[in-house]
Amino acid sequence: MDVNGTLFWYYNICKREVWLMTRQIVPDQQDDNISFGRFLHETTYQRNKKEILFGNVKFDVILEKGDHLVIGETKKSSHYSEASRWQLMYYLQVLKNAGIQASGQLLYPQEKKREAVELTEENETKLEQMRQDIIRIAEKEIPPEPIQCQYCRKCGYEEYCWA
Ligand code: SF4
Repeated sequence: MDVNGTLFWYYNICKREVWLMTRQIVPDQQDDNISFGRFLHETTYQRNKKEILFGNVKFDVILEKGDHLVIGETKKSSHYSEASRWQLMYYLQVLKNAGIQASGQLLYPQEKKREAVELTEENETKLEQMRQDIIRIAEKEIPPEPIQCQYCRKCGYEEYCWA
């Protein structure tokens, strides 16, 4: 199966979300958090931004220095920074596998903050472990049980899990 950056993000938030996403059970698109995230992505950092589609990966190039790229991922809040870091590292790995050296920046326009992300060998090993675990979760017949966590309140699946 095709494990994309979004699944790496969900994996670091909630394993149940991974299963739901892989079954195309999409969260409530009218959910305020989802709508706002989309708005933010479409309207911020427009001046420097070139959106690139590379295989199944879409990201923003925010800087080019010679043959070195810096790619960006815009997020609403640093509350999910750990998940965002892994998503961006996955993008860096895709580029690396294609022979392109790049580093990353997480962009939090609302907080006026940027965070540098580098891909290390150790993190590549962790990415591979996550990829295998995502496949294992996706192949389960039923989703992992919901586990109440700090992310539930702002999750598009909240009603589905807890109503
Ligand atoms: S509501 Fe909570 S348990 Fe359910 S998918 Fe979202 S984060 Fe996971």
